[in-house]
Amino acid sequence: MPIAFDNSYARLPGHFFSRVDPTPVASPSLLRFNHALAEEIGVAAGDFPPDVLAGNALPEGSEPIALAYAGHQFGGWVPQLGDGRAILLGEVVGPDGRRHDIQLKGSGPTIFSRRGDGRAALGPAIREYVMSEAMAALGIPTTRALAVVTTGEKVLRERPLPGAVFTRVASSHIRVGTFQYHHAREDHDALRALTDHVITRHYPEAAEKEVPELALLSLVATRQAELVAQWMLVGFIHGVMNTDNCSIAGETIDYGPCAFVDNFHPGKVFSSIDRHGRYAWGKQPEIAHWNLLQLAQCLLPLHPGSAEDARGEFEAVLNEFPETFARAYEQGFARKLGLLDPHPGDLDLARDLLTLLAEQEVDFTLFFRRLTTQVESHDEDQSGVHDLFGCAKGFDQWSAKWQARTSQQDFRDQAQAMRAANPIFIPRNHRLEEAITAAEQQDFAPFEQLLEVLTRPFDEQPENAGYENPPQPGEVVHATFCGT
Ligand code: AMP
Ligand code: MG
Repeated sequence: MPIAFDNSYARLPGHFFSRVDPTPVASPSLLRFNHALAEEIGVAAGDFPPDVLAGNALPEGSEPIALAYAGHQFGGWVPQLGDGRAILLGEVVGPDGRRHDIQLKGSGPTIFSRRGDGRAALGPAIREYVMSEAMAALGIPTTRALAVVTTGEKVLRERPLPGAVFTRVASSHIRVGTFQYHHAREDHDALRALTDHVITRHYPEAAEKEVPELALLSLVATRQAELVAQWMLVGFIHGVMNTDNCSIAGETIDYGPCAFVDNFHPGKVFSSIDRHGRYAWGKQPEIAHWNLLQLAQCLLPLHPGSAEDARGEFEAVLNEFPETFARAYEQGFARKLGLLDPHPGDLDLARDLLTLLAEQEVDFTLFFRRLTTQVESHDEDQSGVHDLFGCAKGFDQWSAKWQARTSQQDFRDQAQAMRAANPIFIPRNHRLEEAITAAEQQDFAPFEQLLEVLTRPFDEQPENAGYENPPQPGEVVHATFCGT
């Protein structure tokens, strides 16, 4: 049976996208297929042989298109970006009624490629595969990885690298930058059509409201606030929060120079191109808020009232963002610390702790892991949490406050809450580098092994205990690079 495509985006006006076929590659070879995901979205592995995953053959019912979008990159306006190295094959509706885009990344040039070759290297494809699947296992909204194939071709970057095509699954690929593209062209009809499409597809509850576009902004803002809070609570730094990398559906999208922090510092940045720390760990809520302001500008002309009323109402919605974020962050942090009945002062406890971790650049994940063990075992010495500090005096003072705060709770309930909030395994940068380097030499075992560990991030895995460890001094990764 052919794949049951239902390509709603391809039915939008023609200037929303460009019809384009993938460019075939020399010799496609399947590296990995995500069977669990295929089942979840209701497609059969047999419908995706390597030549389909490489773009050498098109499945029946697909309508390949490259999507148009614009965006602010590092705050600078770019009126046209678009899918320069990605092609949307089509959309499928899963057994749960949810719609998913199936997109090839690295499948050849489109009219949006500018000077790029439309191709992807194996390293970034592996990075995106591992990162997005790890995020999904952590319960954080994200695009997913359906497959990766090698192409048998080289792509030319700083040096020739093995090429790959990555198959991405997303609720949609509509970005803040998609709205900006039409807004910049003062194309009111297009904005109307896009907004209606997004409301039907992602936020049907907005249609019931008096001003649906205002309700849409509010719903997108809530999802962004919750998403960024979840990122920060596991030490994730997206790295390129440009408006074109900000998904309207609220999923983490475009895993380029992203990373999980090891030694904590709020100013931590990994991206080699983020020279001024615009997208540092602690800056992410502010940037999400700024991105939403750009979305609001695009939705403003659709408001039926006077310009003044519209502005006031949109501003009011935007002004709620810091509080929505703070609520999600505070609640999440309470779970990390095992505070079962959150109180208003809890955020101070969290802030004080982060200051301590930052002062001594303590490993973020390992700290919360050991704090959990301490609660479980009732034994501070055995947990090793102390050993993470060069000087533990500040930690002891903080710990006394925290223990006073939690003394009325059952420690078993506390430990359970902490276990569910503090992952043991995250995709550590040095492990990812190791997997990529090996894969470039045709050894895919470390990639497979890493994925295996990361599918159960909250479970004890004594046989994989080495994956918990921070990098040795010689293994530290200081910078990550874009997928390009
Ligand atoms: P990104 O850094 O992935 O968010 O991409 C920013 C823009 O550059 C998007 O429009 C991409 O499609 C485009 N782009 C990135 N890499 C390539 C490439 N190798 N070929 C063509 N376009 C690319
Ligand atoms: Mg992008």
